[in-house]
Amino acid sequence: MAIRVFRCSDCGHRMRLTGDTCGYCHAPKLPHQRLEFWVVLLVLLAIGFALYMALT
Ligand SMILES: [Zn+2]
Repeated sequence: MAIRVFRCSDCGHRMRLTGDTCGYCHAPKLPHQRLEFWVVLLVLLAIGFALYMALT
């Protein structure tokens, strides 16, 4: 099973979330098309929320 959310900006191929490049034309992904970007973003949001709750 593969969740394909983002389309390649070069060829329009639906890309897997994992990996750094398009599976069809091997163009490098944009930052927001990478799973790691969202993982880091969610972790930072969680840390920010925890700090907010701790300080208020
Ligand atoms: Zn592509």
